[in-house]
Amino acid sequence: MAPTRSFILQVVSSLLYLSPEWVLAQTSPGGIATCLQGEGLQFSTSSDTTWTTATAALQLRVLREPSAVVFAQDRDDIVAALSCARNASVKVSTVNRGHSFQGYAFGTPGNLVIDLKNFTALSFDASTNELTVGGGTNVGPTAKYLWDNHHRHFPHVRGSHVGMLGSMMGGGFGTTTRMFGSPMDNLASVEYMLANGSLVTAGAGSDLLWAAQGAGPSFGIALSAKIRTHAIVHDGALNYTISLGSDPSIDTVASALLRIQEFALDNQLPDELSLRFMLGNAQSVGYFYGQEAAFDRAMTPLLDSLRSIAPNVTLRKNVLASFWESEVISTGIGMNSPTGGTLGAGRFMHIQSWVATSDNPLSAKQASSLFESHRSRNRTDLTNSGFLDLWAGTSLRTADSDTSLHQGKNLWLIRVDGVGNGSWPTDGVSYMQNLMRPFTDSLRVTGPLRSFVNYADSDLDLDEWSAMLYGSNFARLQEIKAAMDPSEMFSGYGHAIPLPSRAW
Ligand SMILES: Cc1cc2nc3c(=O)[nH]c(=O)nc-3n(C[C@H](O)[C@H](O)[C@H](O)COP(=O)(O)OP(=O)(O)OC[C@H]3O[C@@H](n4cnc5c(N)ncnc54)[C@H](O)[C@@H]3O)c2cc1C
Repeated sequence: MAPTRSFILQVVSSLLYLSPEWVLAQTSPGGIATCLQGEGLQFSTSSDTTWTTATAALQLRVLREPSAVVFAQDRDDIVAALSCARNASVKVSTVNRGHSFQGYAFGTPGNLVIDLKNFTALSFDASTNELTVGGGTNVGPTAKYLWDNHHRHFPHVRGSHVGMLGSMMGGGFGTTTRMFGSPMDNLASVEYMLANGSLVTAGAGSDLLWAAQGAGPSFGIALSAKIRTHAIVHDGALNYTISLGSDPSIDTVASALLRIQEFALDNQLPDELSLRFMLGNAQSVGYFYGQEAAFDRAMTPLLDSLRSIAPNVTLRKNVLASFWESEVISTGIGMNSPTGGTLGAGRFMHIQSWVATSDNPLSAKQASSLFESHRSRNRTDLTNSGFLDLWAGTSLRTADSDTSLHQGKNLWLIRVDGVGNGSWPTDGVSYMQNLMRPFTDSLRVTGPLRSFVNYADSDLDLDEWSAMLYGSNFARLQEIKAAMDPSEMFSGYGHAIPLPSRAW
């Protein structure tokens, strides 16, 4: 009889005097661990000293209690791990860099977690200008590879250590999204491993690619993806800050926001401009990916308009030597690191987001309510912060049905975080939801609520989050779930798409 993989690995590890703890979990608490061990997989369980590292995540508010974390070395390892999960009737989730604000990589307690950090291959096809990325790649090394070797770019989120596919499949929003679309728009295809270990490539026009563009982790493990890339015409950029003066009133801040909105709706803000309006200090900060003179031409009328409501408006701008310099400033110093930086200290946090669209823009009342709600925190065991990212740009040319996460006509992406001071208060989630309730309720008056997957509130009911994230796309997502993951192996997290029979 041929020796098993497990036997070979044990022999190799003992020959190399490797700690068996890392190569094979030392103790086998039974069930799935026995199977993983039998398959010769590298994994960690809660009794291993590797457990703390294996379950490290940004979100500390949410428990991380998987049954095991498998460090997959290759595709065969994932096939074997999925087989163990099937036999043990255990759900599976994928961890890349562990940044999910909802703690979804480790999912519900008892999940088998597949760690993809070894899947970091990158390649570029000059004939299509598509970049192929492994399912475990992260933003910094990927963007740098593309820039250094091919002088091209893809829109990405603003965190150099953040995983590529997790962030792209959750929509993604970055400083070049107004020009080039959201990261998920730029997914050309995704190669999935499904629950039974089979491979499928979700290509252009397929249901599965559409589903991946907003709900990707619900369908399988994304082993790799092809991403559309873009030429950078002007190898330079500038960043800027607009201040409304010291301590502007809520009326002033809300009026300023609406002026910016008017300019965006009138197409007077070029797609090369990114703009983030900070809820705390009411500054607008962003980047411009063109010549300084073009920036001045675009901003002068807006500044004039802002000065008519806040006479002490100031503009500070800083011309950057190269596009890459802007990438490092916007996305972090890890853009120049082979690892993309580090996960960093975790946070006890809760996130909420809303989206206003161009056909239902913010009213004066809604804008005031946003700032009033945000400023009304009256306790010290948590802090809150937030901003509005101006979207418009390319989104005005997309329809809700283009991707599963609806984003047609998105105008503002609004985010509010609550962060606990060293722990999370038991009433923290309801406190943060109630803090923003007046704003949320004011939005309900003019239309259905919308949100954004990467910043979605993990503590909403199914009918609420499904409508806010997917709207009328949700039923189609459920049909695709039934076709691709009928056993619901990849449903072990809060916002997993349910089978049709499970809805409502
Ligand atoms: C510092 C920082 C900055 C950020 N900036 C932005 C921003 O500018 N814009 C924005 O839109 N978002 C932003 N985010 C949010 C971020 O995009 C999401 O949290 C993203 O999901 C994190 O991906 P990850 O791989 O690091 O996390 P993980 O927690 O490892 O994964 C996130 C989710 O994706 C799934 N997943 C990951 N990889 C795969 C795969 N290969 N196959 C199947 N499922 C997979 C996981 O199971 C989980 O559900 C930021 C987050 C941080 C921490």
